[in-house]
Amino acid sequence: MKSFPFFFRLAGLPCLVVGGGEGARHKASLLHKAGASLVMVAEQLHPSTEQFLSETGIRYLAQAYAPELLAECRLVVAAADEATNRQVAADARARGLFVNVVDTPDISDFFFASVVDRDPIIVAIGSDGRAPVMVRHVRALVESSLPASVGQLASLVERFRERVRQRFTSIEQRRRFWDFHLVGAAAEKVFSGRSDEADRILEQDLARPGQYAQGEVYLVGAGPGDPDLLTFKALRLMQQADVVLYDRLVSDEILERVRRESERICVGKGRNIYSVTQDNINEFMATLAGEGKRVLRLKGGDPFIFGRGGEELAYLADRGIPFQVVPGITAASGCAAYAGIPLTHREYAQSVRFITGHRVGGELNFDWQEFVKPAQTLVFYMGLNGLELICAKLLEYGMPPDMPAALVEKGTRVDQRVFTGNLVDLPAIVREAEAQAPTLLIVGEVVSLHQQLAWWHI
Ligand code: SAH
Repeated sequence: MKSFPFFFRLAGLPCLVVGGGEGARHKASLLHKAGASLVMVAEQLHPSTEQFLSETGIRYLAQAYAPELLAECRLVVAAADEATNRQVAADARARGLFVNVVDTPDISDFFFASVVDRDPIIVAIGSDGRAPVMVRHVRALVESSLPASVGQLASLVERFRERVRQRFTSIEQRRRFWDFHLVGAAAEKVFSGRSDEADRILEQDLARPGQYAQGEVYLVGAGPGDPDLLTFKALRLMQQADVVLYDRLVSDEILERVRRESERICVGKGRNIYSVTQDNINEFMATLAGEGKRVLRLKGGDPFIFGRGGEELAYLADRGIPFQVVPGITAASGCAAYAGIPLTHREYAQSVRFITGHRVGGELNFDWQEFVKPAQTLVFYMGLNGLELICAKLLEYGMPPDMPAALVEKGTRVDQRVFTGNLVDLPAIVREAEAQAPTLLIVGEVVSLHQQLAWWHI
């Protein structure tokens, strides 16, 4: 970080802008908006600057720049010709003034941030003067992801801040109170334009404290690997967890987005190595939530698809522990999208089945007859171990040997690999390539589209 984004009170601060062109006008308008006491100096004015000056009533000196003009001011912007700008910068520096020279980072002391204004929330974006185009791009991203009424939410905090401080003695309690309300019903009221109702909710909850000492479990789907596939809600809850219980399938890039201060516990169950049992996990979650913690139970894909999410929640529900569930992109959707294999298609498949290839007691007890019916796509989770057996069974029950099949390895990740073949040759292709878990098997005519539609890291 080569420059630091201060929030500077400019109201009434004497500032000088040298130049009369559009660049000068732009900077002057920013300073004016922040309440600075401005003087502009230039021999000539661009018509738009002339209009700006008459609209705002900013003081204007129609003369050449002279060093004496710096005597009164605290902050300087040089937006004239290059020679003048260099002179202004040198003079300002000699007097210990901070100067910004338009489009000339190497002789500027400060830069104008690109601002997203949701008063009183202000987001400042900058690139140390080095990549202004990128700044505009990032600004658009921030604009689109920040609710327009986030400023009103900040006003709510401002209104109640003192009373919350008096009510809750510990910082931890206060943080929990706010975390609870800034993403919950009160925030929703503000966002839908009913701030008075938000106030009422806060009033009520302040009248009966202690409630926020109760923990909660967030059962969150982390998607198949690419962190960009997380939902906004998942990210929000990840940012407010006290402790995280995560599965082996959750990628490092995703874990990096969990609140830094949170405690991280891997409860991954290796295949056939049940070091942590499901019962352990259930008890663990309940105990932590019972201690008042916000427990993030982070699972690969979607928690309700082959994720045992239902069992975990039933355990919590039995004990009266509150929870929320956030769906995630399941491996089938993620892998299919990133492998360019549409799971349904008007010509090839009117339905899709998600099947777990996990063998209970070493046997795959499926209705194979149903699986070999035409015009459907089969997706087998945990397919690597049972790949050979699955292909053999499908052939045995009459699926055509040339039926296309694909194995997606580490789907949606940058090192994703897709192996395609048919029921007969796919197992050998996969063996040859030494594919590694996690892998997903897709069987059906739609697999043939991969050749044309593959796009991710090919
Ligand atoms: N709840 C998860 C599935 C858990 S079962 C979901 O909705 O996706 C675990 C199986 O999911 C793995 O054995 C593998 O078959 C599949 N899987 C999960 N992530 C995957 C990925 N990135 N690439 C390929 N398969 C994946």
